[in-house]
Amino acid sequence: MLSDSLFQCKKCGDCCNGYGGTFLSEKDVKVIAEYVNMDVKSFTAKYCRLSGGKPVLAQDENGYCIFWDKLCMIHPVKPYMCKAWPFIKSVLVDINNWHIMASVCPGIRTDVPDSVVKEFVAEKIADRY
Ligand code: SF4
Ligand code: SF4
Repeated sequence: MLSDSLFQCKKCGDCCNGYGGTFLSEKDVKVIAEYVNMDVKSFTAKYCRLSGGKPVLAQDENGYCIFWDKLCMIHPVKPYMCKAWPFIKSVLVDINNWHIMASVCPGIRTDVPDSVVKEFVAEKIADRY
């Protein structure tokens, strides 16, 4: 599959470390709260912080996402942002973003022509809508 040729997650957790602001949509909040058997209010108070007035996942003291424990503890319902990575709009805005992302994510391949990457990312994004 082409997506496997462009990206294979190495499960290193690097993208789950550091304050990147993993934003949660309203739907993300509902689905994750249900997954961890909490109501939305309690979930938001315990696991979220606000950034620009929007909920983001909190970080643990070690700097990792609160749901990282050698792997993503909410993988089946992880936020849209995490699911979409690395096939995101900013790659279409500027293909250099693919290479910048690859410098921090060992799962992203850069030995594929940029035109192939762009075409594939555009298809993935179109499929989501
Ligand atoms: S940085 Fe890349 S390879 Fe590592 S866990 Fe995140 S998506 Fe996977
Ligand atoms: S939700 Fe999962 S994939 Fe997303 S940052 Fe947290 S641990 Fe990583």
